[in-house]
Amino acid sequence: MTTHPSAPSAQPGRADGLTVAIDIGGTKIAGALVHPDGAMTGTTRRPTPRGTDAEGVVAAVAEVLADLARDPLWPSVVRCGVGSAGPVDTSRGTVSPVNIGAWRDFPVLDRVSAELAAHGARIPAVLAGDGVAMTAAEHWLGAARGHADALCMVVSTGVGGGLILNNRLHPGPTGNAGHIGHISVAFDGEPCVCGSRGCVESIASGTAIARWALAQGWTPTAGQDATAAGVAAAARTGDPVAVAAFDRAGRALAAAIAATATLVETGITVIGGGVAASGDTLFEPIRRHLASYATLSFVRGLKVVPASLGTDAGLIGAAAAATMLLGGPAGGPTA
Ligand SMILES: [Zn+2]
Repeated sequence: MTTHPSAPSAQPGRADGLTVAIDIGGTKIAGALVHPDGAMTGTTRRPTPRGTDAEGVVAAVAEVLADLARDPLWPSVVRCGVGSAGPVDTSRGTVSPVNIGAWRDFPVLDRVSAELAAHGARIPAVLAGDGVAMTAAEHWLGAARGHADALCMVVSTGVGGGLILNNRLHPGPTGNAGHIGHISVAFDGEPCVCGSRGCVESIASGTAIARWALAQGWTPTAGQDATAAGVAAAARTGDPVAVAAFDRAGRALAAAIAATATLVETGITVIGGGVAASGDTLFEPIRRHLASYATLSFVRGLKVVPASLGTDAGLIGAAAAATMLLGGPAGGPTA
């Protein structure tokens, strides 16, 4: 019925050697050497270049790798994980991050591998989307630890996610499995940016929450922003439109979480991201609505909990995804 702790088959913590972790986002490019226990060495970062071409962005990645290569532990690196904002296509090693306009179908994995080789590290490298990386991180060291089957989600300006199935990261052939933001929960709903209708993201993302609240007549008071954080603050003071906005978002998330659990028996759902930081303002409606959607016996015990890793989740996730996908002591690639 629910998840059960069991011996993981490919835990990053059991692998030997250090993992080069690179986390590429719209505001920063970060890197670290990640130890088998999750400790990080040599953490470094650069702002993601703006107003430059594809090579200008690569140059920042190269600087991060050059910083890491100066670390005395560099000779101990055995693999590299690259986590990136999406969309990603891991079958080709390419990314087209929404917030990095200079990169479209950009072969980031080949370029990182070339930089690694230039610093003497001819090691395997893997690419993971940020939702999948976050999932790997939460399974390794966070709230999904010990759970054989889990759905992990990021609810932020968008809605992303990833799956742990049978103790393995399940990225799918192109690295997009678990893309729960674009499951439709309202089949006659409003058009979504993806081309479908009534997607979770179009109702429950921070952007959607703020947009809906404003359209329903909510106006920020002094000290509140016209953002999901502002709507959350208003909801905590009892503003009925703000409460309704989070209730609607929670209902959409509950429907999608229940559908996922019914399909693949994910007994726990871990939710991180900026909107999840509003705490019970989001989690209370999710849990309440789950009772309406998670009705079959095997999903009734479904747990929904906040993510537990903070600012370093991207780097931890890149390292965890690399180890899980390249195979820890017990396994080979899962995709
Ligand atoms: Zn969509």
